[in-house]
Amino acid sequence: MQRYFVDPDLFADDEITITGEDVHHIVNVMRAKEGEQILVSDGAGRTSRVRLTQLSSKEVKGQVVEALSEQTELPVRITIGQGLPKGEKMEWILQKGTELGAYSFFPFTSERTIVKLDAKKEAKKLERWRKIIKEAAEQSHRAVLPQLLAPVSFREMLKQPAQYTHCAIAYEKEDGATLHQLLETMKADDSLLILVGPEGGFSAEEVALAQAGGFLPVSLGPRILRTETASQYILSAASYQFEQKRSGCSDAAERKEE
Ligand code: SAH
Repeated sequence: MQRYFVDPDLFADDEITITGEDVHHIVNVMRAKEGEQILVSDGAGRTSRVRLTQLSSKEVKGQVVEALSEQTELPVRITIGQGLPKGEKMEWILQKGTELGAYSFFPFTSERTIVKLDAKKEAKKLERWRKIIKEAAEQSHRAVLPQLLAPVSFREMLKQPAQYTHCAIAYEKEDGATLHQLLETMKADDSLLILVGPEGGFSAEEVALAQAGGFLPVSLGPRILRTETASQYILSAASYQFEQKRSGCSDAAERKEE
C-alpha cells in the first residue's frame, strides 16, 4: 500500500485532506480511485490506513480506517554526520541511509571537503535532498521521516555531543575501539551521532579535536570504505545488532523454553 508523509496537523481529525505534491502522485501517478486505501504517516511515528473518499487535481480527501502500530524503526536513533562528498554521492547516501533506518542526517564541511556550497546552492540542494529522503522513507515504509539538518562546519559539529547519548567518529586508523564495541554499550532509545569523513578522510588533528570533544574514534573494520559506503555499513551493523541479533536471540530462547 502506498505511503505518504503529511503534515502532522492533519492527524487531528478522522477526515484527512491531502494537498500539494502528493496529490499529483496519488491522482496521476498511482491513478488511485475512490474507495482505494493508502497509508498516511505524520513522520514522527504515527501511521493511519486511510480510505480515499474524494479525488481532484487540487486535493485528495480520505477517511481514517484504522491507526496502525508499526515496528519499522531502528530501536536506536542514529544520526549520520556526513562530510559533504562530491557530485551526487550525497543523494545516494541519503536514499540508502533512509532505507537502512537513519534517524537523521547532519552534513558538515571539514579540512578535506572539496565541494563548495553557497547559500543559494545550499537551499536548492537541501530541498532536493529532503525530497529524496521523503520518497525513500515512503518506499521503505518508515514510520519516522528522517530529518536533514543544515550543513555546519567541523568546528560547529564538535559542539553537538550534549544533544546525543553517544558520539563517535569513524576513523580508519583506529586500532582500538570498534563500532561493534560501541553498539554493545547502547540500549533502546539511545541516540548516536557518528561522523564519517569526506573522500579525503579526516586529518589526525581533526580526530584528536573530536576525541577531546567527546567523540569516540571507532573502526569500521580492516578495509578502507568509500565515504558513501561507510554510513551504509554503520546502519547495517546497527540493524544486525538491534533487530536481527536481538530478535534472533529471543526466538531461540523461546524455542528452548517450549
Ligand atoms: N582518505 C582515507 C579514507 C577516507 S574514507 C584514505 O584514503 O586512506 C572516508 C571516510 O569513511 C573516513 O573519513 C572514515 O570516516 C570512513 N571510513 C572508511 N573506512 C573506514 C574504516 N575501515 N574504519 C573507520 N572509518 C572508515
